[in-house]
Amino acid sequence: MGGAWTKEFADAPDALKCNADHRTVVQAGGVTIGGGEFITMAGPCSVETERQLMETAECVVRAGARVLRGGAYKPRTSPYSFQGLGEEGLKLLALARAATGLAVVTEVMAAADAPRVAEYADILQIGSRSMENYALLEAAARTGRPILLKRGMVATVADLLRSAQCILSYGNSQIILCERGIRTFETATRNTFDVAGIAVLKEATHLPVIADPSHAAGRRSLVPALARTAVAAGADGMIVEVHPHPEQAWSDGDQSLSFAEFETMMADLVPWCELQAQFRRVAEPVA
Ligand code: PEP
Ligand code: MN
Repeated sequence: MGGAWTKEFADAPDALKCNADHRTVVQAGGVTIGGGEFITMAGPCSVETERQLMETAECVVRAGARVLRGGAYKPRTSPYSFQGLGEEGLKLLALARAATGLAVVTEVMAAADAPRVAEYADILQIGSRSMENYALLEAAARTGRPILLKRGMVATVADLLRSAQCILSYGNSQIILCERGIRTFETATRNTFDVAGIAVLKEATHLPVIADPSHAAGRRSLVPALARTAVAAGADGMIVEVHPHPEQAWSDGDQSLSFAEFETMMADLVPWCELQAQFRRVAEPVA
């Protein structure tokens, strides 16, 4: 239990379990994350147009997703790449929420933007590249919105929990941790999916843990296998990229699922999620 990890994660004492049953359940826009149901967050990498977002939101809600993802502020490695629609993108996300009932998660990149993003989003995403931006962690935490904290691509599990500890120290305990793949010597995948990291986090912390098979895989054909692995490792949910025309996406098209691919993956995941729920009932019997 968390107690077994106090040495490894000494800098994140408040993120660790006090006992086997200790868990934080995050409530966001009517969705419960970490409550036993495997929650899927899905949508485009970037919000591009009203039509693209609405069509995607309608597809993912039909297929069983509970949260719509979509970037309005994009951390692009090239200054010449699409940088996101900014507030216009936030407004489109709010429109899609009103039309579908999905909760909304979107990335905040700058501390100054945190209050504005919090006006529109149910969950604020801290991206991999921002995991150690402490001013941003503080600003996001202080909005009071739940935080989806992605693991930095060169961050250890201990580093991730240190950042969670910062958010906790600002009085926000509504944190969802996200394993999205790390940099290793392997180049066949975009990042190396650290499935053991999911198991470690589930054992050590009381915070919900989700996986991002899209940014780990980097190619759409691998996404369903990584999603199954995430369920098997005990993740509380996943965040997946979906696009009406992946080959035309303005960002991350190679790893985005088409609507048909997403629907198939969701249907195929059902028995795996049922197994996970059965396993949880055995491992964590209700008193
Ligand atoms: C994203 O979710 O589109 C994203 C940029 O993710 P990450 O921060 O994990 O690279
Ligand atoms: Mn992306």
